[in-house]
Amino acid sequence: MKIAHARIYPLSIPLSDPIKMSGETVFDAKTVVLQLVDEKGYSGWGEASVAPLMTGETLDSLLANLRYLVQKVRGISWEDPRNLTAELNKVLYGNSSAKSCLQMALLDIYTQKENVVLWKFLRTLFKKNDLDKPLPIPILRMLGGSIEKEQMDAESLRRQGYRHWKIKVGLLPLEQDIKRVETLLNLLGEDTVSVDANGAMNIEDAIRFTQSDKVGRLAFAEQLITSNSSTFDFCRLKNESKIAIGLDESIHGLREVEQFIELKAFDGASLKLIKTGGLIEAMECALMLENNNLKINLACKVAETSISAAATAAIGFALGRLPWGYSMSNQYLSFDVCKVPLVAENGLLDSSKLNAPGIGIDPDIMLLKSAIAKEYSVISC
Ligand SMILES: [Mg+2]
Repeated sequence: MKIAHARIYPLSIPLSDPIKMSGETVFDAKTVVLQLVDEKGYSGWGEASVAPLMTGETLDSLLANLRYLVQKVRGISWEDPRNLTAELNKVLYGNSSAKSCLQMALLDIYTQKENVVLWKFLRTLFKKNDLDKPLPIPILRMLGGSIEKEQMDAESLRRQGYRHWKIKVGLLPLEQDIKRVETLLNLLGEDTVSVDANGAMNIEDAIRFTQSDKVGRLAFAEQLITSNSSTFDFCRLKNESKIAIGLDESIHGLREVEQFIELKAFDGASLKLIKTGGLIEAMECALMLENNNLKINLACKVAETSISAAATAAIGFALGRLPWGYSMSNQYLSFDVCKVPLVAENGLLDSSKLNAPGIGIDPDIMLLKSAIAKEYSVISC
């Protein structure tokens, strides 16, 4: 299979509600969709969202690097998906979002041609075909805004069947965050509830938070301290915490997973395709975590469309179970780029939703064009 041509769609899609995190407030999804067409006319789709604070890539750099990668690898014949990343690494250092986007589109074409569903292909690639039928993936909802809004959202989403939650913390003084989380925990009963500080707490506050009995029922606390923290602080937090410790910004790929396993400094990690550089690398990280009895949370960056949502879900279905849930971020968009977006039912995503060969999602060209970011246009290369 060789790439015949490509189209790159730089998108900006407003969120239904702005999402406030400790380092930024997100009003719209700046995301890039890539269509690759091979010499036989097969079309594959990839996507990567812009996350300067997570991968160092901006909309402009992502577009430039995608264009660069497509031009560099056009002459290559892609017969074995395991070679994809090695080939991309030969021509560009770093830039994991751009590489993930390209790998996703290539895998979409490859699995369509092989007539296999992406998650089943991942099982075959990693010799996991003996696993049972995947359990439905619990979809995790983010709570934020005023406490009144959080309570209203939690109640209405619980009625829709959601039972997994992530509360953003780190913007308020510690005692207020503890009080807020305690109120929500009381409201959410036996649900699986986590917090995410995006690295905003100092080590002393982080330890105080995780030792507070008021929030002791949390399933895990994600990235309480900044990824620049010392290994001493990460170990101290893990050893002194009464809550399971998750890491997100600290974990980009297998190297960090191995380092933190060596340090015994976490209980699990949040994996995003834009960080790992692709689906195959995300599977490697997930299996390394599983083999060490550590937990996995899958996540899209806020916010990606159904394309990235489906590709990320493929990791969860390939693994078969996902106790820390999946933050599928297309649910925060004011509109999606597919006529039939990927949606949870009763708070769960069933593997039957992705039965078509490939990623299993086809965007609508008119919807894509309607979402082109201001002052940008479709790039053909
Ligand atoms: Mg996070």
